[in-house]
Amino acid sequence: MNAMIRDRIRVLVGDITTLEVDAIVNAAKPTLLGGGGVDGAIHKAAGPELLEVCRKLKGCPTGQAKMTRGFRLKATHIIHTVGPVYSGGESGEPELLRGCYQNSMTLARDHQIKTIGFPCISTGIYGYPKLDACNIAVKMVINWLEANEFPENVLFCCFNPADAKIYEAELARGH
Ligand code: ADP
Repeated sequence: MNAMIRDRIRVLVGDITTLEVDAIVNAAKPTLLGGGGVDGAIHKAAGPELLEVCRKLKGCPTGQAKMTRGFRLKATHIIHTVGPVYSGGESGEPELLRGCYQNSMTLARDHQIKTIGFPCISTGIYGYPKLDACNIAVKMVINWLEANEFPENVLFCCFNPADAKIYEAELARGH
């Protein structure tokens, strides 16, 4: 990875619902009607209007992504993507997780989003091993930034310092 690409990627520790960016990504459930973890936090912070709009979207298949406004969030948009439930890694989970990042980045590019913030998709309730998930996320994002002008910047918003360390180490490896 060259220095210009590295400059477009940041690793943060914090609550993704507080980010003042063009779009945050939600690790959503297939119903898009909220749940626990980051999904619950985003729905709580965005307010009931988000749930109303999400009902109209009629769900989202695993690996795909759909966009809404951010409502009461500081983020302008929310990209809802459904990560795979990890069940050993032999059931297409890596391709599906890559799809989450790819389809989120595609929506961001199509809407000329400058800065997008990702949580560690699938690594909570859905049980994806953190290192493997991080490797997929970092590789996909680097490849994307090498080929695309938008989004200009990507934030990996980790919920705790241990997760951020994994991302920093993966980025230092370069790919
Ligand atoms: P999944 O069902 O995709 O596994 P979870 O919400 O259970 O989704 O977890 C995904 C990741 O989001 C985990 O790494 C978890 O620590 C993190 N997380 C939970 N709440 C927040 C938050 N408010 N901001 C950022 N990350 C969060």
